[in-house]
Amino acid sequence: MPTHSSVSDISVFDGHNDTLLKLAMLEGTPRERSFFDRSSEGHIDLPRAREGRFAGGLFAAFTPSNPEYDFSTPFNPNDPRNYAEIPQSQAYDFTLKLFDYASRLEAQSGGEVRICRSANEIRDAMSKDQLAVSLHIEGAEAIDTDFHALEDLYGKGLRSLGLVWSRANAFGDGVPMAFPSSPDIGPGLTDAGKALVKACNSLGVLVDVSHLTEKGFWDVVEASEAPIVASHSNAHAICPSARNLTDKQLDAICESGGLVGVNFQISFLREDGRYQKQTPIDVVVRHLAYLVERLGEDGVGIGSDYDGCSPPHCLRDISHLPDLIKGMENAGFGAKLIQKIAFENWLSVLDRT
Ligand SMILES: [Zn+2]
Repeated sequence: MPTHSSVSDISVFDGHNDTLLKLAMLEGTPRERSFFDRSSEGHIDLPRAREGRFAGGLFAAFTPSNPEYDFSTPFNPNDPRNYAEIPQSQAYDFTLKLFDYASRLEAQSGGEVRICRSANEIRDAMSKDQLAVSLHIEGAEAIDTDFHALEDLYGKGLRSLGLVWSRANAFGDGVPMAFPSSPDIGPGLTDAGKALVKACNSLGVLVDVSHLTEKGFWDVVEASEAPIVASHSNAHAICPSARNLTDKQLDAICESGGLVGVNFQISFLREDGRYQKQTPIDVVVRHLAYLVERLGEDGVGIGSDYDGCSPPHCLRDISHLPDLIKGMENAGFGAKLIQKIAFENWLSVLDRT
């Protein structure tokens, strides 16, 4: 890896986005947009990724509960149809559709986009200025309890799996987006969920605990032999959302050699949980600083949730990532630490998984 001569050159490998879903759902509608054209809609496309020195990330495949969901409007967290359980076959087909969308992006990119299956492939892509796409599933509905689909999707590039989204499935329960609230809402993993953690461990698929209930979190800590990773969650001590992690959870992640990626969703950042677009970048930096204090310099990354969240205006799309780098520098983070948070820690945890 090159050592960066100045902080402003640092690239970002980001732990979570929903761009595949956004783009695939708008295909064939009047709001359709191409990944290759600069848009003012949504958060990620290739031109804005280049402006923001976004080197790549975990691209999530998420199956919405409500098939009629209109992706041109903001997600309504109060609509119960958005949390309904989904049959495995439906989620599997939809996941294949999103993986296929990623393959088409790679094929159409003329070498600019590359689906990566290991940290070393990501490093190689970064050195060639190719955008690294690592495939993730958010909510394991697509996986059957005999794990045939897990092996099949692994063969298609899957390297990271969130056991649940904020709804129940065969493997466990998701945590509601409650505020203020403890994350200890609802049951933990089922026996199938614990077996899925072990199956992921033996394949080398990263297990993501973001969206899990606190009981489910502790079940993963007990079942998993790999580092514990929360790809897009923040510090509960600063913002008491049920989607964030308590100090005890952060300590367990630290002990496992794991990582937390900071999420840009306004309501997971602010102390008051209010939806305030003018939230300053310092609030994001404050979470990063707190997590570094708790997890050490090797345990913190970025998990923007772009195209799946409502970020503050100052980080309104991927082209603004350098402003976050600048924000860290202004807060006194050294170049080495910024580089770790920006991409090295993600690559290290993928290596160790
Ligand atoms: Zn999410």
